[in-house]
Amino acid sequence: MIDKMLKFVKIDKQTPPKRGDLERKEDFNEIYKEFIREKAKEQSSRCSQCGIPFCQVHCPLSNNIPDWLKLTAEERLKEAYELSQDTNNMPEVCGRICPQDRLCEGNCVIEQSRHGTVTIGSIEKFITESAWKNGWIKPLKILEEKDQTVGIIGAGPAGLACAEQLRKEGYQVTIYDRYDRPGGLLIYGIPNFKLEKFVVERRTKHLKDSGINFVQNFEVGKDSSLKDLKNKHDAILIATGVYKAREIEVEGSNLGNIFPAMEFLTASNKKGLGDKVKKFEDGTLNTEGKDVVVIGGGDTAMDCVRTSIRQNAKSVKCLYRRDKENMPGSVREVTNAEEEGVEFVWLSSPKKFQGINKVENVITNKIILGEPDDSGRRKPEVQKNSDFSLKADIVIKALGFDPENLPKLFGCDELQVTRWGTIKTDFETMETNIPGVFAAGDIIRGASLVVWGIKDGRDAAISIKTFLERNELKKEKVA
Ligand SMILES: Cc1cc2nc3c(=O)[nH]c(=O)nc-3n(C[C@H](O)[C@H](O)[C@H](O)COP(=O)(O)OP(=O)(O)OC[C@H]3O[C@@H](n4cnc5c(N)ncnc54)[C@H](O)[C@@H]3O)c2cc1C
Ligand code: SF4
Repeated sequence: MIDKMLKFVKIDKQTPPKRGDLERKEDFNEIYKEFIREKAKEQSSRCSQCGIPFCQVHCPLSNNIPDWLKLTAEERLKEAYELSQDTNNMPEVCGRICPQDRLCEGNCVIEQSRHGTVTIGSIEKFITESAWKNGWIKPLKILEEKDQTVGIIGAGPAGLACAEQLRKEGYQVTIYDRYDRPGGLLIYGIPNFKLEKFVVERRTKHLKDSGINFVQNFEVGKDSSLKDLKNKHDAILIATGVYKAREIEVEGSNLGNIFPAMEFLTASNKKGLGDKVKKFEDGTLNTEGKDVVVIGGGDTAMDCVRTSIRQNAKSVKCLYRRDKENMPGSVREVTNAEEEGVEFVWLSSPKKFQGINKVENVITNKIILGEPDDSGRRKPEVQKNSDFSLKADIVIKALGFDPENLPKLFGCDELQVTRWGTIKTDFETMETNIPGVFAAGDIIRGASLVVWGIKDGRDAAISIKTFLERNELKKEKVA
């Protein structure tokens, strides 16, 4: 089997690269480089077309990866694109920002046999970029316009994917979003160096050109209640994501220059989009020349440290209470951050923030990992008398997100939520306890991934279609 695979792998058989060595790093880093036709062809032809496609099994969208790799290897790019877009509403986005090392690529049989993964994400990006370049992506042609309307709250990946799937069926779709631009975290959370903003704007323009209505600067709970919106539409999807930042309750938390991650990242993204951002221009949210301390170990923390590096910070430290092996963030992201000069301060957590009006130092405790807790992870415990001080001109808190109190915000007490505040939905239909109101994405899962948002949006569209068809039938029977 290995010999069969090696036929496709252009690597010296005597000295296979090991996990974590340069070969693998270069492969993962290709995500950020332009992929040329020859390279895509060469990479695609490394796929062994193995019997059980573990890459496909581990892709949340069950993308038909082996087949589109084969088509790419044969330079049948248009067919590869058609196959790839069949299961994914934004392959060029997933190709760029999926944590492939945890999903498709991490389960590639060639990777498992330590010969370096086929760089699936880069190829997915290449296929769709080729489709855009060649004009293969056209506004949807609707065969039969339907009268029924669907209101979608939230223009993030879940809302956008659901909207496109329903529009394909001819439904009238309106997306409401409280931001001034569509895209959700794709536009204001994820930094430009991971996902260029033109990629998001090009996608949302495609959806507008396909007849989906976007209502921006519209906050459900302020500009309308959920009930009012429901009366306006035949079905509703809630895809509002999770935005309540987790807090650190230590002495000095109220000092100046301590910011939540989203405030920092949104300012940077708005700046990148060409907006005037007062707090960036006056230096408040600009880390240039500053000693930066980021608290947290997930992908949001990695985005903050890497954004700070790009803003020419003087020093960037990432404080995390567990060790590298137990970080929630993607290995690829941590590796990239280390290579870019971020200093990780493992096994440490803030004890207090010190300064006069503004933060100047973070007094930090050393942590040891104790016995596993209920979740099975070893519990971080503060080491006595282990304080040390880190200089900080700015502190960015990236400790994760919880759902906002949606029943209260939407003026809809009967909307059921779980004990974590995520919306409760029927496991199969994604319908909430309110008939005709569905939910998808982070607001049902908790902070997750773009690819899962897309999957949920697509699944919700199937259920909404069934619901609308059933209602139509009922109406016909009554008539
Ligand atoms: C900094 C950061 C980096 C990330 N990096 C990655 C990554 O590299 N790869 C990856 O796969 N995932 C990443 N994620 C996670 C990913 O972005 C999310 O899982 C995904 O965007 C969730 O999609 P969603 O559609 O559920 O919600 P969101 O993208 O959050 O969109 C929700 C939308 O709803 C709108 N909204 C909320 N409340 C209301 C209201 N009351 N009225 C009207 N509109 C409302 C919001 O304005 C927003 O536009 C990252 C997340 C963050 C925070
Ligand atoms: S959508 Fe994500 S997990 Fe699926 S093939 Fe593409 S990059 Fe891999």
